[in-house]
Amino acid sequence: MRSGEPVPTVLEGVAAAPGIAVGRARVLVPETLTIPERRLTPAEVPEEIARLQRAACSARERVQAIHHALAGVELADAIFRTQLLLLEDPQLLDGVARRIRDGGINAERALQDEGERMLAVFAAMPDPYLRERRSDLAVAVRELQMCLLGLESARIGPLTEPTVLIAVDLSPTEIAQLDRASVLAFATDAGGPASHAVILAHSLGLPAVVGLGRATALVHEGDLVLVDGGAGRLWVRPSPEVVRTHCQRAARERQRTNALLRLADLPAETRDGRPIVLRANLERADEVERLRDHGATGVGLFRTEFLYLNRDEPPGEEEQLQHYRAVLAGVKPQPATIRTVDLGGDKLLVAGQRRSEANPALGLRGVRLARGRSPLSTVQLRALLRASPAGRLRILLPLVTGVEEVVAARTHLADLRRELEAEGHRVADGIELGVVVETPAAVALIDRLAAETDFFSIGTNDLIQYTLAVDRDNEAVAYLYGAGHPAVLRVLRSAVEGARVADRPIGVCGEMAGDPLFTLVLIGLGVDELSMSAGSVARVKRILRATDWAEARSLLAELLALRTAAEIGDTLGREMRRRFPEEFESAAPVP
Ligand code: PEP
Ligand code: MG
Repeated sequence: MRSGEPVPTVLEGVAAAPGIAVGRARVLVPETLTIPERRLTPAEVPEEIARLQRAACSARERVQAIHHALAGVELADAIFRTQLLLLEDPQLLDGVARRIRDGGINAERALQDEGERMLAVFAAMPDPYLRERRSDLAVAVRELQMCLLGLESARIGPLTEPTVLIAVDLSPTEIAQLDRASVLAFATDAGGPASHAVILAHSLGLPAVVGLGRATALVHEGDLVLVDGGAGRLWVRPSPEVVRTHCQRAARERQRTNALLRLADLPAETRDGRPIVLRANLERADEVERLRDHGATGVGLFRTEFLYLNRDEPPGEEEQLQHYRAVLAGVKPQPATIRTVDLGGDKLLVAGQRRSEANPALGLRGVRLARGRSPLSTVQLRALLRASPAGRLRILLPLVTGVEEVVAARTHLADLRRELEAEGHRVADGIELGVVVETPAAVALIDRLAAETDFFSIGTNDLIQYTLAVDRDNEAVAYLYGAGHPAVLRVLRSAVEGARVADRPIGVCGEMAGDPLFTLVLIGLGVDELSMSAGSVARVKRILRATDWAEARSLLAELLALRTAAEIGDTLGREMRRRFPEEFESAAPVP
């Protein structure tokens, strides 16, 4: 330990990817590369530029190899495509070549200077999209530097025994390169719950805790550590008793997961027979195959923006058509609910739509991008309509705040249908149009929106953010963000009651839908549908099937009578642990 201060036995961070792992710590402190400096004679310059080009080729090959190894892992495509683009980017390579030529300096020094200049330019950009690309640029520059220096790219090196990595931060590239046979889990000082690294850890099934603050300062190399990914805890030199109880719990969780998958074919209904449709959220069309194994009925939310990320041009009509057809056909005869593109806000924009906005969460995003029948919207709606005969299409509009946005979408769809039919394309009948209820305005106007809408889906991720005025991506105010806030419960009740009075089905597609802690709350509210990541369906179904509707309503009434989020959290946690002790044992307070 560097400071001599006592090591706490348990550090609390952000639960990033569930699972329990015990092992020796490998502490990674950021390694600084030593950059050699050499003056070149004019005659040496062409060979130095050729050496830079060869290194760029090798760096691209390395990135491609990792990309290839991660085929099928969620979001890996988007991450590595950006790094490849940067390694092909003439701005970077020409800039370095110019420095070699004009300054008569070696490629490593020139790359260091040009990389720093570009990183500073990116860092100063007001546009969150471009700022976010900074970490990809840093990875690309480092990879290129390693190739010039003739170094292996992995900073982690070979691991001789099963290891828990403790790092300041881990890039997606580093996670991708981990030897999964010897890395048991990781824990980092930095990071929020929605980072790319976390999404990759989830997809790879690697337990992870992020946002620990000072883990690298407090853990010694070789310390025994225990990662409890579901609870967001890192135990440092845990007692044999702590290890034993956690290992027993991990074994029980494994058994439960296997048993849960056997529930896949049972009906999703309460013990007293009230059906609640459990659907899956989807980010990529090729994941559609897996949904049925988990017991999901159709797709409740296909987030189409992942088709648009990290590329120079938005996907064209034909390309989108293939994706939508695959999703529709993959779940037929169940519906596929496809959300129109929700770029902007926290999501990255394609080139051409980049704008700098002081408050992106309140800016040009969601259905606002369709204003004036924008080409972005026209291309997507045409692709959706053309795909519609492949299955049962439901179209969902994000970030609606007014009736006119829904009316505009409806008339746009009607005009496009006529246009397509005149061109000889077939368009299915009975396509439903729905609204994501994710702004307080949509809740307040639910009766008016119902007149123009076939169904509603509550996007709790944003609804919580806009109700509580808490940025969903900001760690500093994360303590205020939560579905168990009394204002959130009241807003949800108002939305569900409004939809009920207007006789429109209403579901939930935000993260709250897949959190078993809130299953009774949502059943008690009377929602018709829950849509979540496929992996959560079985756990939610088990709780659903073991609950009476009246019981859920009375728990909700009890919670609605409380005054604060803390009171609600305590009561809900206690009640859920009492009813489902096995399910919630990992959420128990630190002993
Ligand atoms: C939501 O806001 O709850 C939602 C489902 O959408 P996203 O997380 O993509 O904003
Ligand atoms: Mg949203």
